[in-house]
Amino acid sequence: MDERRIVVVGAGPAGLASAAELGRRGLPVLVLEQADRVASSWRGRYDRLRLNSSRPFSKLPGAGYRPARFRPGTGMFPTRDELVQYLEDYAEGNGIDVRASTRLERIDRDADRWILRTSRGDVRADQVIVAAGYDHTPHVPDWPGRERFQRPLVHAAAYRNPQPYQDADVLVVGPGCSGMEIAYELAVNGARRVRLAVRTPPNILIRSPIGPLMALLMLKLPPAVGDAVTRFARRHEVGDLSEYGLPVPDEGIFSRLRRLKVAPAIVDMEVIEAIKDRRIEIVSRVDSLDETGVRLAGGDRIEPDAVIAATGYRQGLEPVVGHLGLLDERGAPRVVRAEAAPGLRFIGYSPRPAHMRYMGREARQAAKEIARLEAVRTGRHGPSPARARVPRLMRGLRSGAEA
Ligand SMILES: Cc1cc2nc3c(=O)[nH]c(=O)nc-3n(C[C@H](O)[C@H](O)[C@H](O)COP(=O)(O)OP(=O)(O)OC[C@H]3O[C@@H](n4cnc5c(N)ncnc54)[C@H](O)[C@@H]3O)c2cc1C
Repeated sequence: MDERRIVVVGAGPAGLASAAELGRRGLPVLVLEQADRVASSWRGRYDRLRLNSSRPFSKLPGAGYRPARFRPGTGMFPTRDELVQYLEDYAEGNGIDVRASTRLERIDRDADRWILRTSRGDVRADQVIVAAGYDHTPHVPDWPGRERFQRPLVHAAAYRNPQPYQDADVLVVGPGCSGMEIAYELAVNGARRVRLAVRTPPNILIRSPIGPLMALLMLKLPPAVGDAVTRFARRHEVGDLSEYGLPVPDEGIFSRLRRLKVAPAIVDMEVIEAIKDRRIEIVSRVDSLDETGVRLAGGDRIEPDAVIAATGYRQGLEPVVGHLGLLDERGAPRVVRAEAAPGLRFIGYSPRPAHMRYMGREARQAAKEIARLEAVRTGRHGPSPARARVPRLMRGLRSGAEA
């Protein structure tokens, strides 16, 4: 049995930030990652994807030394590949010990410790951080007739670029960030017709460098205040999209975020223009499918050549911790920002604008608490964060010189 004090599950932003913050406090950490490299979620996302949170609000914690910064030349809204590079630099600069190609299958209690059942054997640990991703498992609704549909139907997670959809009639389902962006990309890059099916009208924000700052400020206020301010901003920037099928929803951004953990659609103005000139046609929600067609709410039946379901994700935690009673009815952790069980935490499960920056804060808080517990357990205090940072600073400088 592999014995460890601290194990982190997942080498995405949340897991890497957790490991870095623990390492900075002199605590050795093993990171288990199912993929063969760090940042696997981002490597698999579509080619055009850029962050909707601006660079200053997308950094992981790191007291200002090199691996916490994006490389020179990175745009204000880093591209997918720039973010992957950043996460690789961050893992290397922080000397994070990642055991790749190792999938966590289940966590069991073992007296006052945890046993992690992995695809490469069991690991026993005192402290576990699960950072396996809020957007873990692509979710496609179980529409009646789905199994009969004979045409391509993929989740947005499988979409890469518009190339396979040249001259095609495409139905994109779901008006979140991904659905809107994919619809736009198809509309301006060769698809013959693009429709966007909407069940619940989205809250919309225009991508802006200071957007995350405004959101962070408003998260400190009652949701009704943030809702009113962003509704005003929408009216001013976007205008009324009711005649195109996108009325302003009754429930504002911050109320919806609190109630359903659903973030707004953050898009560029060009997407709104495409809706206004009907290169993207808004249609009602999908009700059912048959061999060749899609029945929409209200009765219309359309025959798209392909359907792309930008219909969200699930956390996929049931097989791992479902038996421990730590999940709510939707399969998300009941307790975040604190221990969910003694020695077990979830990081990255509180979606919000500038989520990556926030998960860095969660990681720092968790590392502080774990360091305190470790100090009590061993009866001594480990190196201060400042002292622990020195060798990493040197490593960061070295990798900077090599870059
Ligand atoms: C399309 C899209 C765009 C986004 N854009 C932004 C943005 O602009 N700004 C922002 O702040 N946030 C954004 N987010 C939200 C969020 O910040 C990112 O998804 C971020 O990558 C989440 O980090 P994470 O570490 O929690 O999860 P992930 O990045 O998904 O990393 C989880 C890691 O855990 C691994 N893993 C999963 N299960 C297991 C297991 N059982 N065993 C071992 N390893 C496992 C995975 O392989 C993965 O490497 C976006 C999300 C999506 C879907």
